[in-house]
Amino acid sequence: MTDYDFDLFVIGAGSGGVRASRIAAGHGARVAVAEEFRVGGTCVIRGCVPKKLLVYGAHFAEDLVDAQRFGWQLDGKRFDWPTLRDNVLAEVDRLNGLYQTTLDSNKVTTLLGHATLVDAHTVAVDGQTHTAKHILIATGARPFVPDDIPGAELGITSNEVFHLPALPRRIVIAGGGYIANEFAGIFHELGVDVTLINRSETILREWEPALAERLLGISMAKGIGFKLNCRLDRLERSGDAITVHFKDGKSIETDCFLWAVGRRPNIEGLGLEAAGITLNDKGAIAVSPDSQTSVPHIYAVGDVTDRIQLTPIAIREGHAVADTLFGNKPWIVDHGCVPSAVFSNPPLGSVGLTESQARNTYGRVRVYTSDFRPMRNVLAGRNERALYKLIVDEASDRVVGAHMIGPDAPEILQAVAIAIKAKLTKAQFDDTVALHPTMSEELVLMR
Ligand code: NDP
Repeated sequence: MTDYDFDLFVIGAGSGGVRASRIAAGHGARVAVAEEFRVGGTCVIRGCVPKKLLVYGAHFAEDLVDAQRFGWQLDGKRFDWPTLRDNVLAEVDRLNGLYQTTLDSNKVTTLLGHATLVDAHTVAVDGQTHTAKHILIATGARPFVPDDIPGAELGITSNEVFHLPALPRRIVIAGGGYIANEFAGIFHELGVDVTLINRSETILREWEPALAERLLGISMAKGIGFKLNCRLDRLERSGDAITVHFKDGKSIETDCFLWAVGRRPNIEGLGLEAAGITLNDKGAIAVSPDSQTSVPHIYAVGDVTDRIQLTPIAIREGHAVADTLFGNKPWIVDHGCVPSAVFSNPPLGSVGLTESQARNTYGRVRVYTSDFRPMRNVLAGRNERALYKLIVDEASDRVVGAHMIGPDAPEILQAVAIAIKAKLTKAQFDDTVALHPTMSEELVLMR
């Protein structure tokens, strides 16, 4: 290994890259990591973390309204966007510092700059070359902006949304997935007039349809506008506003346009061809189950491989590569039964198979639902119902899917995911005593 400058060279200091660097260094490897933007990656700098903090900040809007039904008088309340924005960005700075400290304390060499593969063992960072026995590509993904919509550049993406100088009066959000629904909830609660436009006839197309319908219904009742089956034609600047033109000849005006139509792997400018690395049909780096690329000593993890675009998956993939290469402990990540959440208002959580996926897989399934108005909403006079759905394989009685929308659904879902991963049966759910009064007790009371 000493013929090389490093045992492992990691490109990208996001969730997957930092975990791999730290674990590999802990196993005694000489590790360098290159980062062209900020250590921490999308999740910490401009994704999960600041988004979740905005979700918390925005939700006070409804909490403060509901508080009055619980006896609180809150005269003179007002919201100040710069305070929330700057506190969130300060927290991002703090976490960025912690990530750097983690790398430093594990003796990982951090190189700030753009990294390019010169050949299969050589990486150049801003012109300086470094050799490595193993290379890990963990460059993540970036927001997709269509190149066939004139004026597309007038829109912002989730990269810019955390830095808005002022809240817009109106926003149009393109997309119907995670980011679109999360920011629709945030902006609506902060008093912005929100319109969500999506190309298909629904939102959250991959999710359990009953949950997607519930979110759509609640969001519409709150006052969020939806334009589905929508074909965008072009965006045009009209003074300070943007005019959004549709293929049907109609148009709407907005002050801000947010693209949330998926994310694409960051593969450009990496010199993948120079190293002989091949892509898959989705334009992501093709990898084997143990994250090996077409070049055996070069690995890739996280969103750049577009397996499941979730932070905990990138972290596990990075950890597995480091253990496998340097810890004498080879293992591969199980990509099944991965829980996920949409932090919309209300939020969704889901793990395992949807009802139709389970029918396709198992044939006969039993479906249990609980459609209820959370106690807190009842007293608050808030007419929003939660919906929980359990999918059970008829033959084995195993619970193979859980899908929830309602307050704190993601917090509850994490525990359910353990039960489903452990292959527990519906009888075992039923055998568990309810914790009363909670929303989660519904999970053991569905008959
Ligand atoms: P999603 O994949 O969640 O949703 C993309 C949306 O954009 C869909 O509604 C889709 O329409 C639409 N769309 C896709 N391609 C086009 C196109 N070419 N033109 C117009 N519309 C299009 O993407 P996001 O950007 O919201 O998020 C990216 C990923 O990041 C997520 O898939 C998720 O893995 C991750 N993420 C996770 C979060 C979490 O864990 N809470 C939060 C944010 C992101 P349709 O499907 O209806 O056809």
